[in-house]
Amino acid sequence: MKRAYNFSAGPAMLPNEVMERARDEFLDFRDTGMSVMEISHRSKEFIAVAEQAEADLRELLAIPDNYKVLFLQGGASLQYSMSALNLLKGGKKADFFRTGAWSDKAIKEVAHLCEVNIVADGKASSYTDIPAREDWKFSDDAAFVHFCPNETIHGVEFQQPPETPVGKDGKRKPLVADMSSCILSRPIDVSKYDVIYAGAQKNIGPSGLTVVIVRDDHLDNLPDNLPRMLSYRAHADGDSMFNTPPTYPWYLAGLVFDWLKQQGGVEAIEKVNIRKAEKLYAAIDASDFYTNPVAPAVRSRMNLPFTLKDPELDAVFLKEAEQAGLTSLKGHRSVGGMRASIYNAMPEAGVDALIAFMQEFEKSHG
Ligand code: PMP
Repeated sequence: MKRAYNFSAGPAMLPNEVMERARDEFLDFRDTGMSVMEISHRSKEFIAVAEQAEADLRELLAIPDNYKVLFLQGGASLQYSMSALNLLKGGKKADFFRTGAWSDKAIKEVAHLCEVNIVADGKASSYTDIPAREDWKFSDDAAFVHFCPNETIHGVEFQQPPETPVGKDGKRKPLVADMSSCILSRPIDVSKYDVIYAGAQKNIGPSGLTVVIVRDDHLDNLPDNLPRMLSYRAHADGDSMFNTPPTYPWYLAGLVFDWLKQQGGVEAIEKVNIRKAEKLYAAIDASDFYTNPVAPAVRSRMNLPFTLKDPELDAVFLKEAEQAGLTSLKGHRSVGGMRASIYNAMPEAGVDALIAFMQEFEKSHG
C-alpha cells in the first residue's frame, strides 16, 4: 500500500495511526456490530465518543471550564457571520485585521451584517507582512475584534494574539480568532480569546466538522430574531446535538486528539512543528532558486508558500514531486508557485524528503 507525503492545505493528511484505527473499527465499532457512522448520535456508544473527544480537546488546549466547546457544521465560512451574529449584541461595527485571503473573506462576509473597520491592512504588502502594532487603528465602538492567526494561503502567522483595546464597559473588547489552519499546532492561552473557531480539515480531522470554543458569557443577550441554528446558546444547550451532528468526523477528530495526546500533546508537537518549519525555510532561504516572500517574523509554521526562480518549471516540479511521493504542492491560484502545508500529521521525515527533493531538483534544473 502506498501512502504519500501529502502537503495539501486541506483537507489534509491525517496520521497513519488514526487511519488504521478507524479502519480496524470501521465495520464493527467496539462490539456493536455497526460502524460509528451507522449509530444514533443519541446512543450511549456515540455519546461516549463525543464526550471523550471533548474531554481530550479540553485537556490538549487547557480550555477553562467557563468555555463551551461546540462541534458544528458549516465550516469556518459559516463562523464568519455566526460569530458576528452572536457577538454584535446590538452593536453596529466590528474591527478586523486583514492579513491575507481568509481574513479578507471574513471581512467581505461580515460586511453584510455590520460596518467593518480594518485595524491593520496587509494588502499593501501583498500580504507578506503584518503591519506594526503602532499602526493599528481600533475603533471605539466595535463590538468585537476578529483576526486570523494563520493565513493558510499567504503563509502569514501571528506569533501572539493581538491585545484588544478596553471598551467603554472597562473590559477588553472580545477577541474572535479563525484558527482553522493553526489550532493544536502550538499551545495557546484560551482565556485571551472570546471565540475560537476552526474548520477541522487541517489539524483536527476530516472536513464536515467545525470546532467552536466560546466563553459562556457570550451565550447571553442574543438577539430574539437569531435563528436557532445560528445561536451558540442553542448548540451549547443541546451539547452540539441541537440537530444531527457530523458524527463520523467527530469520531475521527476524537481519534486525532487521542493520537496527539500520545505524541505528548501540543507542547511536544510544537517542538516538532518548529523544527519542520525552520528546516524548510532554511532550505528555501539558502537557495536562489526558491523564494518565500513573507517577512521572517510572521512566517507561518503550518503553510509555507514558495516560488521557483522560473515559473516555467512549476509543472515539471509538481510532476517530479508527485513521482517522488510528495503530493499536493501546488500553491493557491491567487498566489501561484508552490505551497507546502505541514500540519501536525506531516511527519518530519516528509519535510526531510521534500527538502532533499528540492535540492535535487535545483541541481538538475537550476
Ligand atoms: N479560514 C481559513 C484560515 C482557512 O484556511 C479556510 C479553508 N482553507 C477557511 C477559513 C474556510 O474554511 P471552510 O472551507 O471550512 O469554510
